[in-house]
Amino acid sequence: MADRDGFIWFDGKLVPWREATTHVLTHSLHYGLSVFEGVRAYKTDSGTAIFRLKEHTDRLFNSAHIYMMKMPFDKETINEAHKEVVRANKLESCYMRPIAFYGSEKMGISTRGATVHVAIAAWPWGAYLGDDGLERGIRVKTASFARHHVNVTMPRAKLASTYANSILANLEATGDGYDEALLLDTEGFVAEGAGENVFIIKDGVIVEPEIASALTGITRSTIHTLAKELGYTIVTKRVTRDDIYIADEAFFTGTAAEVTPIRELDNRTIGTGSRGPITAKIQARFFDLVNGRLPEHKDWLAYV
Ligand code: PMP
Repeated sequence: MADRDGFIWFDGKLVPWREATTHVLTHSLHYGLSVFEGVRAYKTDSGTAIFRLKEHTDRLFNSAHIYMMKMPFDKETINEAHKEVVRANKLESCYMRPIAFYGSEKMGISTRGATVHVAIAAWPWGAYLGDDGLERGIRVKTASFARHHVNVTMPRAKLASTYANSILANLEATGDGYDEALLLDTEGFVAEGAGENVFIIKDGVIVEPEIASALTGITRSTIHTLAKELGYTIVTKRVTRDDIYIADEAFFTGTAAEVTPIRELDNRTIGTGSRGPITAKIQARFFDLVNGRLPEHKDWLAYV
């Protein structure tokens, strides 16, 4: 990732890609406290548009606030910087990674006295779980690792160290030949994927697990709106892994994963074992939306 042409926005200016570096004694590298986002921009007929940029920036600032990290830039500057990065790298559609982290002034647990840095990178990134996954659905395995308890790492923050848990789960699942991991909370109820929220469909009703231990996904909230517009009811409740085994359909949502059908969990086929009809409708509407083909929700598209 580091050895390529292009520009990264770093602490207020565009820096050549290879020069956007930090010291090995960076506090966040040692203690894992950095907050970040994953954002996507899509090519539309009216130009490239960043999807729900405002909501991503709000979540970034909320993550920083939860961890008492003082952001050195205001939201407007960060929003503008996203657009600048897309333009500077001449990207039509891309993934964006803003990150705020502590610098290398000091060691020791406390973040007091460490400077906050902000970087935003952008690069082309196709379907996170594969084009085939988007179309045919993926195979998922329940992780042996529980998702963080709400008072361990706080789930409203998109915090780097939370992802050590995601990595354990993902490596376990993918090492066993599955495409992605599903994590349960410490009580054993379904929380989320390693980097995705999850929905199931049973008897025409869309069900999502309570998000106590899960990230409040922006794609998830988008799906709430789109599903309601399509006339579906969404019920939020505690979900068990076997609720998913006997569901008619299931899908993951995420900025990277977009809307990815799940065709199998723990070697149990879900529904017909392919992308279900309601999932297909929601997925199609999602891609129409992000690609600027819907008249509704234009305010969710920030043109660069
Ligand atoms: N849960 C986790 C753990 C994630 O990493 C992500 C991706 N950011 C999501 C859910 C989905 O969130 P969003 O739709 O905002 O990308």
